[in-house]
Amino acid sequence: MQNFSYYNPTRILFGKGQIAAIAGLIPAGAKVLVTYGGGSIKKNGVYDQVKAALKAHAWLEFGGIEANPRYETLMKAVALVKSEGADFILAVGGGSVADGSKFIAAAARFDGAEPWEILAKRAPVSAAVPLGVVLTLPATGSESNTFAVISRESSGDKLGFGSEHCYPQFAVLDPETTYSLPPRQVANGIVDAFVHTMEQYMTYPAEAPLQDRFAEGILHTLIEVGPQTLAHPQEYAARASQVWSATLALNGLIGCGVPQDWATHMIGHELTAEYGLDHAQTLAVVLPGVLRHQKEAKRAKLLQYAERIWGIREGSEDERIERAIAATEAFFGSLGVHTHLGLYGVAGTNEAPSRIPARLERHGFLKLGEHGAITPAAVTEILAARL
Ligand code: NAP
Ligand code: FE
Repeated sequence: MQNFSYYNPTRILFGKGQIAAIAGLIPAGAKVLVTYGGGSIKKNGVYDQVKAALKAHAWLEFGGIEANPRYETLMKAVALVKSEGADFILAVGGGSVADGSKFIAAAARFDGAEPWEILAKRAPVSAAVPLGVVLTLPATGSESNTFAVISRESSGDKLGFGSEHCYPQFAVLDPETTYSLPPRQVANGIVDAFVHTMEQYMTYPAEAPLQDRFAEGILHTLIEVGPQTLAHPQEYAARASQVWSATLALNGLIGCGVPQDWATHMIGHELTAEYGLDHAQTLAVVLPGVLRHQKEAKRAKLLQYAERIWGIREGSEDERIERAIAATEAFFGSLGVHTHLGLYGVAGTNEAPSRIPARLERHGFLKLGEHGAITPAAVTEILAARL
């Protein structure tokens, strides 16, 4: 096991009716900016629950944060935080609202020339407005991690940052708030959590059997409850397990002391920026390609994955590995998430093998993966097999 430093200060409030409890977690004298997306929270009752919980607080709101939140939009909220003197941000929505709110929180306290530098130049974040999250879409883990991914319309970039100042102070996970999700977003969430787990698990053996078992537990749970929760969206037990799996997949715990490979996410961000695919759609396309391309480097773990996750014990090593990757593709497909670019019906995706490596080069991502072996040339090969 590698050395590690683990710190996660986010209080999780899990279960039915927990939104009411936020009143006691936000300082009484705070002026709260409630941030949200395109309006789902006004249709499913979540906005009303938040409003009731904040009845004793001073608050104002900023709606309209898009899926794949945009810098241009978020900077309007930064101006509002400053002009209104808001000193607490309550993000209500999915990963895009959580990510966007983390950026608002950091940008409002940024003392450099332009907050875009946090993303483009990795300018350090030295402070952020305190924030909390009411999560309505289990997927990203953003509700209890340091990361955020932001898109800029003017340049077509999609870039990430992370800072401990952006850890939410609390996250409300009430599975009932997710019942209104359309099937596409439920499926996206299962795929995103699955791939987060894989990117911390599918590397090389690191003498960290407990982390392996944590990861395998999350993968098994997602495989089990994913189809159940899609078929029966209002079945509490399955949805609760999906929600908790997604949080645990990326709250830092399973990544302690193990090598990590975020190539699928890095390539996926460029695919979203170039073609507008949903985040999870890009992951379903890229992950199987990365696994096949990196088969030698990941051989031991792929064999473990084949046996422990898919029960594959017969055949040669190469046969078992191929069957496990095919099972992964079939799982994503069974949720309704396509694993090849051509199936999305988006113009121009056949140029991905040249366009996406060029984007990665432009952003300086020249050596991805746990060994730094996924170069732009390798990305060309990976994507050529995913058309
Ligand atoms: P999302 O972009 O937050 O939301 C997708 C859609 O779902 C939106 O249209 C939203 O509508 C709708 N929605 C959300 N909750 C709903 C509900 N309860 N009922 C009905 N509709 C609902 O999706 P996401 O997958 O959670 O977030 C994706 C973003 O997170 C991407 O930008 C990705 O790059 C990023 N990400 C971040 C991390 C991280 O660690 N921070 C990790 C992975 C991915 P409204 O706008 O109307 O609410
Ligand atoms: Fe993700």
